[in-house]
Amino acid sequence: MERSVLSIGSNLGDRLTYLEAAVDDLAATTGIAVRGVSSVYETPPWLPVTDSRFYSIVAIVETNLDPFSLLDTVQEIETRHGRTRGLKWSPRTLDIDIITFGDEESSDQELTLPHPLAHERPSVLLPWLELDEDAKIAGVPCKELVEKLDCSGIVRLGRLR
Ligand code: AMP
Repeated sequence: MERSVLSIGSNLGDRLTYLEAAVDDLAATTGIAVRGVSSVYETPPWLPVTDSRFYSIVAIVETNLDPFSLLDTVQEIETRHGRTRGLKWSPRTLDIDIITFGDEESSDQELTLPHPLAHERPSVLLPWLELDEDAKIAGVPCKELVEKLDCSGIVRLGRLR
């Protein structure tokens, strides 16, 4: 089994329901066990294309799927919950990113590991640190990464359900 860290976000429609559905669908997938789910974090919109705040969580899973099968699975879950692939950065009901997959490193555009933007996103680092204070991206502690970022405006809401 490999450990994988997933970032799950929504900024369209009933955002909490979409996050809950994503966790439920992951847990119901053969070959995936959900080991931890963070609180929900609210992030101010960072681009003018949306006025709805982003809700994000991190889920830690263990899986015997290979990385591309896990990517297929999370994309199926996105599609099942109404995700359409429109403009880059456009509002989305559900966005699931694979942040890390074990210690895998890959520069493949279809699956870049660790996720190339994770180190600069408080919406990934804060919920991840909540679950694992020793979290690292490519050997760099997330605690150090987050100290360099502007985390003002990010609000920790409650847990799902
Ligand atoms: P997004 O718009 O953020 O959902 O990006 C989706 C695209 O990013 C898909 O075509 C994926 O193949 C690609 N991608 C590359 N690396 C990753 C990753 N670590 N996690 C999820 N999607 C990825």
